[in-house]
Amino acid sequence: MPFTIPTLPYAFSALEPVIDTQTMEIHTQKHHGAYVANANKALEGTKWADMPAESVLAQLADLPEDKRGPVRNNLGGHLNHSMFWQLMAPPGSGGGAAPTGELAAAIEAAFGSFDAFKGQFAAACMGRFGSGWSWLCWDRDSKKLSICSTANQDNPVMGKAIAGCGGAPILGLDVWEHAYYLNYQNRRADYVAAWWGVVNWAQVAKNFAAANK
Ligand code: MN
Repeated sequence: MPFTIPTLPYAFSALEPVIDTQTMEIHTQKHHGAYVANANKALEGTKWADMPAESVLAQLADLPEDKRGPVRNNLGGHLNHSMFWQLMAPPGSGGGAAPTGELAAAIEAAFGSFDAFKGQFAAACMGRFGSGWSWLCWDRDSKKLSICSTANQDNPVMGKAIAGCGGAPILGLDVWEHAYYLNYQNRRADYVAAWWGVVNWAQVAKNFAAANK
């Protein structure tokens, strides 16, 4: 089965005013669409074409050299965006609430408080020069949450040697200009601050539970 753009669990307009309708439409259909098309092209006819994206990206070093770059960028882009759409929900339908339960406790244990976590996460977003992502990851071995940032379409599942950080990503924010330019232009800090209003903490909790298994 070739990779496909997942159907959004909400309308393009559902995240207004935090993320505008046109950005959602172009971001999902054109940007994510291109990552999907190029990932399929790179893996067509290979044994990796039918594997879950996470599995392929976790073994990038095993791919033929000529596939590694295109798969890192485009299958990375597919995985990142597939996660990202699920990590948001319309304000009023679960978006923008706060973490609860074990996730809230793990955030407090790692960062001191939810507000301190948000501050550190925003700093990671602002510290990413150019295009990339910020992540909240769960490390199974140390049983701890941590924040990191990756360049381009790298994902922590690629591992430290490639992505610069590891662990299981449970929350991620796209800080490419294509994610916010129409609404926020150069004001990345405003985009990050507004984004907390659409974070789907129920989904983050699901990712946290899955990473803990
Ligand atoms: Mn993007």
